[in-house]
Amino acid sequence: MSDHPVQVLRSVPEFRAACDAVRGRGERLGFVPTMGALHAGHLRLVEVARRYAERVAVSIFVNPTQFGPNEDFSKYPRTLERDVALLGSVGADLVLSPSAEEMYPKGETTRVHVGELSEHFCGPFRPGHFDGVATVVTKLLAMAGPCTAVFGRKDFQQLKIIERLARDLMLPVVVVGEPTVRDADGLALSSRNAYLSADERRRALAIPRALAGAAARFAGGERRAGTLIEPVRADLAGAGLRADYADIADPERLFPFALDAHVGERAVIAVAAFCGTTRLIDNLVLGEDPAPAVSA
Ligand code: AMP
Repeated sequence: MSDHPVQVLRSVPEFRAACDAVRGRGERLGFVPTMGALHAGHLRLVEVARRYAERVAVSIFVNPTQFGPNEDFSKYPRTLERDVALLGSVGADLVLSPSAEEMYPKGETTRVHVGELSEHFCGPFRPGHFDGVATVVTKLLAMAGPCTAVFGRKDFQQLKIIERLARDLMLPVVVVGEPTVRDADGLALSSRNAYLSADERRRALAIPRALAGAAARFAGGERRAGTLIEPVRADLAGAGLRADYADIADPERLFPFALDAHVGERAVIAVAAFCGTTRLIDNLVLGEDPAPAVSA
């Protein structure tokens, strides 16, 4: 598979034509949207897309509308050549790498807003972020016209929002969510991990450890929300991580449980925390996801 030919399209009309050609041959198209700086988590999504479709398209686009004014848009890693080589190694066929000017032409004003789900977790801390995500994903799905689009559960709130928008806009696509790929020490793979110093990388392990602790309490029968989430908050603070939030919520509506609530047989714990200046997110669906295997 290492020399699988990858066609890189720099413009939207070229990408549309290539996707049309796939469908014209009667082949199914799978699609994986990304912001590039690819790692094994992204590559896993491509491998999964291949199970659903004869051809797989990947977009690599650092989407300006999903970054706030003081966020890392300009320093986000851009490694197109390396990304294309990696995509060839897992059998991707088409890569779209468009310009921001083409994706957001002068005079555009349309944004896609998914209500309720965008209001919890990251919503209050990243105003406009999910509108940017929902807008770019809607555009990309309209361009590619895939049968199946594959997303990571690492961005659990994003996945739920995209599932909702696909249903609400009646898009003819199956949205697939894949488990988070982690490093051997438990840290969820992320393009932003490249920002971490060696010391920060070590301290960041408090996140998967805290999630594993909550999973153990849940497996031991604990169902009180506060008893599940409060030690997670304490573990993050103890490692010097500054949490935007660490919440336990209903995994479909993302509505946080009150501390004295009794959670059901499934509940999502989601965390966003700064390690130095790097904002990391992670989550675990208790009663569904395996606990992260963390090193001692
Ligand atoms: P990004 O390039 O960060 O926008 O991510 C593109 C896609 O890859 C999204 O669907 C993410 O949820 C997914 N993704 C990112 N990191 C991981 C990971 N560690 N495991 C699985 N999927 C991931």
